[in-house]
Amino acid sequence: MGLWALLDAMWEMPAEKRIFGAVLLFSWTVYLWETFLAQRQRRVYKTTTHVPLELGQIMDSETFEKSRLYQLDKSTFSFWSGLYSEVEGTLILLFGGIPYLWRLSGRFCGYAGFGPEYEISQSLVFLLLATLFSALTGLPWSLYNTFVIEEKHGFNQQTLGFFMKDAIKKFVVTQCILLPVSSLLLYIIKIGGDYFFIYAWLFTLVVSLVLVTIYADYIAPLFDKFTPLPEGKLKQEIEVMAKSIDFPLTKVYVVEGSKRSSHSNAYFYGFFKNKRIVLFDTLLEEYSVLNKDIQEESGMEPRNDGEGDSEEIKAKVKNKKQGCKNEEVLAVLGHELGHWKLGHTVKNIIISQMNSFLCFFLFAVLIGRKELFVAFGFNDSQPTLIGLLIIFQFIFSPYNEVLSFCLTVLSRRFEFQADAFAKKLGKAKDLYSALIKLNKDNLGFPVSDWLFSMWHYSHPPLLERLQALKNSKQD
Ligand SMILES: [Zn+2]
Repeated sequence: MGLWALLDAMWEMPAEKRIFGAVLLFSWTVYLWETFLAQRQRRVYKTTTHVPLELGQIMDSETFEKSRLYQLDKSTFSFWSGLYSEVEGTLILLFGGIPYLWRLSGRFCGYAGFGPEYEISQSLVFLLLATLFSALTGLPWSLYNTFVIEEKHGFNQQTLGFFMKDAIKKFVVTQCILLPVSSLLLYIIKIGGDYFFIYAWLFTLVVSLVLVTIYADYIAPLFDKFTPLPEGKLKQEIEVMAKSIDFPLTKVYVVEGSKRSSHSNAYFYGFFKNKRIVLFDTLLEEYSVLNKDIQEESGMEPRNDGEGDSEEIKAKVKNKKQGCKNEEVLAVLGHELGHWKLGHTVKNIIISQMNSFLCFFLFAVLIGRKELFVAFGFNDSQPTLIGLLIIFQFIFSPYNEVLSFCLTVLSRRFEFQADAFAKKLGKAKDLYSALIKLNKDNLGFPVSDWLFSMWHYSHPPLLERLQALKNSKQD
């Protein structure tokens, strides 16, 4: 049956069948589109076996090959995990997984003495079971990704014990936030009257501001160790740079990211006059634990550790020294602070809040439509949580796709602007070499299919960034 015949047949169906069919059809359309893009990109990995001419000075052929194999493995992995999740999602919809889970939650509540009139309790049990299900089905994929793929390419630094403890902690912390926030939101929608969408939006706005405020101080430290950057030249230079652009810096932290993975990064956070900078230890040549191990272990000091350790040492020495010199770290920070100075952070918050307001407004328009619930197997009840799920996840999905594409385009613009800002600070040369080093440390592949990169890349391709830096390096 051709697509038109299918669409034609759908048009003849009752509204709820049409809605359900359209949701499934759209989901598979997006899936096939993404798979098509991924295949195009995969062809690039497969066929570009030699460093292209224009990259000769940027990447040696050994790193190029390593990165090529890494990206190929990653693309195979995401093909299978993508296929799995599309099929899983489809089966859940086709076999009525959502109404089944809703009834199951109702039964659990019934055992505890809460009848169907306790909709919020039933919603919380539903959320708990649904997140538990997705955590469990996601676990094998995440294990494979960490301990097979990342491990094979030298990025994984976690032990299985650390990984599992981390996963459980993450689950518990998520529940501690998700459950109270959801129950309050459902309550507000219930009692909010005609303008409930305004209160619901205000509530989510406040919650996200609170979360952003407490995340770095109370949540992130549950997972990673943050230590203040020791006094020294780097810290002084960071403070001088922050001052020169009026960035209200209060603290600089180093996070022990090397405990998880050797990918590197830097970011800042905080409101108004209380901003903090966080540097991954893997970004810093001087502080990287990975580098320290190499220095110690390749030194002449005798070690009395057992045999087992020497294997580990060999493995670590094989990982080449990584990270950036101080001037390069400063250039990377110059770029990050550029995001702040140019108002990118504020613009992103405003966009996401406008979007959230629009979504709540449309939700208010649609929530009364019974056929939406019938479409997903809720024939005689219209629970608010299920309405949120259906409307935000399924009905809005075309809109969400368009929005996320626009945000990706915008993000690339912001990246160029932040690079240009670092350039204005006189850091073009250092940023140039830092970008090359980071790309190498993270085994980024410098060649990409134009359509794939346009759809997915939140950062412009390396070559384009280097080109833009070079252009003004001369002026
Ligand atoms: Zn950036």
